[in-house]
Amino acid sequence: MSQALDQTPAPLSLPAADGFAAWLDERCAAGLQAARDAADRLKAGEATTPDQALRIWDEGMIGMSNAASVGSLFSEVHPDEAVRTRGEAAVQDVQKLGTELQLDRELYDVFAALDAAALDPQAARLLDKTLTDFRRAGVDRDDETRARITEINEQLTVIGQEFSKNIRDGKGTIRVAPERLDGLPQDWLDEHPVEDDGLVTVTTDYPDAIPVRTFCKDRDVRRDMVAVFLNQGYPKNEPLLGELFELREELARLVGYDTWADYDAGVKMIGKGSAIPEFIERIAEVSQESAERDRDILLARLRVDHPDATAIDGVDFPYYEELVRKEQYDVDAQVVRTYFDFTRVRAGLLDVTARLFDLTYTPVEDAVVWDPDVTAYDVSLAGETLGRIYLDLHPREGKYSHAAQFTITDGVSGTQLPEGVLVCNFSKGLMEHDDVVTLFHEFGHLVHHVLAGRAHWSRFAGVATEWDFVEAPSQLLEEWAWDPGVLQTFAVNADGEPIPADLVAAMKRAEDFGKGYTARTQMFYAAMSYWFHTDRPDDLTEATIRLQERYSMFPYVDDTHMFAGFGHLDGYSSGYYTYMWSLVIAKDLFSAFDPDDLFDPVTAHRYRDLILAPGGARDAADLVEDFLGRPYTFDAYGEWLAR
Ligand SMILES: [Zn+2]
Repeated sequence: MSQALDQTPAPLSLPAADGFAAWLDERCAAGLQAARDAADRLKAGEATTPDQALRIWDEGMIGMSNAASVGSLFSEVHPDEAVRTRGEAAVQDVQKLGTELQLDRELYDVFAALDAAALDPQAARLLDKTLTDFRRAGVDRDDETRARITEINEQLTVIGQEFSKNIRDGKGTIRVAPERLDGLPQDWLDEHPVEDDGLVTVTTDYPDAIPVRTFCKDRDVRRDMVAVFLNQGYPKNEPLLGELFELREELARLVGYDTWADYDAGVKMIGKGSAIPEFIERIAEVSQESAERDRDILLARLRVDHPDATAIDGVDFPYYEELVRKEQYDVDAQVVRTYFDFTRVRAGLLDVTARLFDLTYTPVEDAVVWDPDVTAYDVSLAGETLGRIYLDLHPREGKYSHAAQFTITDGVSGTQLPEGVLVCNFSKGLMEHDDVVTLFHEFGHLVHHVLAGRAHWSRFAGVATEWDFVEAPSQLLEEWAWDPGVLQTFAVNADGEPIPADLVAAMKRAEDFGKGYTARTQMFYAAMSYWFHTDRPDDLTEATIRLQERYSMFPYVDDTHMFAGFGHLDGYSSGYYTYMWSLVIAKDLFSAFDPDDLFDPVTAHRYRDLILAPGGARDAADLVEDFLGRPYTFDAYGEWLAR
């Protein structure tokens, strides 16, 4: 047992650069050892009560999570490559030990013998989740089955790697005469010089392909690009996907589920596989009108150039979407960015969230950080220190290139404070408004991590909620980055003028254009992810065409095979619906706030205490019902689409 139960733990002190690698190694080794010790103590029968058994296990899990967290974070952000490599090794060690423990029959038997009736509801919930983890890994199956499960898991890893490699290596190129690239921005043209034979090479990499599909006036160039872009990974990935779906199905059945989708959905808010197609249908239905309306606007604009066009497909859609936004919405991105100076935006984000959740951020001037760009703050609520956050917001060599929240420690009451990091890649000068929205989104995850950092059990600490709910708090906080009154508190140009409310309104209208057909495209992808796993069709091209016809507003382009390059079929498997699921709930949560006073403390504090603070201690559906006073519905999402 921890002897520090009535003391407030102190934040970690990170080491200086020269001692960093040794510190990382030591912290990871200690964490793994704590997990091994916990397993040994449990198997030796040290626990005399069920609660004590869970406490021993939780100490081990804190060690695992501490090792995984710093390993993962510093493998992505540390400026020293040697430290990044050691971080990667630490993550692999944690995964290896995790698999070993999950398949340890003797350890499982200790938990299976515990009497849940002797536990309080939180501890009983922990026992239930722990047993579920073990069973999903297959620990309670016979030796032969477990050997087969191990074999399948190894095969799945190899197939996943091969699948991604085929997408990376399957990069396509087109070669274009420079005069056919009219419409592309000058900086893009400067980066794509004419080669000796008088042609320009354009690859399917996003920074190449997306501008060509969006801006190139020559329809045939766009058509050539789509032909290579939507064939990445084809044909190699078709048989691999077939194998992937079969093996996942077999694995799910071996551990007691009817389908892979049931297995995957079993620990999510949606609960069961068959609810996924119902959700997809529901979204398709609510987005129908909005999708048709905006698609028809694109089609009308296409007909100005091509009077006999009867439909708009992937060759024309990105180009005309951009054109309509430019011609019909009065938003000049060059003007917008003059209001978003990075330093002011960062201060504004902290002010807005401090006011909303009644938090205080105190800069930690003497904090040791891994790069001079990183800033640290202690977060407190009503005078009590909750945890520490680090903001690592600018790009540098070797750093993670996307935007995400990382954990340093999970907050466990009496043991350790929650600490987390926001990792982004913004300019130090003026920002795009999209970046501001991203910053608010990611901060939504970070504040969730900190506010849920007084957990009784580490299993429920921080963002430990169902995986299809996890984006709801971050998507919700984006709303504050679209509110004129909120933006005017920090979005001020060099002359000291706040951003005009009518400019924000125009930005929002431009952003909202196409939300219906975007939802339909997302449901097309979600349907592929679900039905490919459930039906396991022999001909994936035929199945793609059928699902595209049913859900997408944009028809299939002949001789393309987008499924072969759809990387999320590996990572999300049958659950690509999750982001939209979170969005539906985020819109419903937002409906509880007063649009004229987004800072109303009663609502904001209820949200903080009822949705964020519990972390994974209760089911997300129950948290949402508590906050809204009713179960969540599609109404707010539908109203938003209809606007
Ligand atoms: Zn997110």
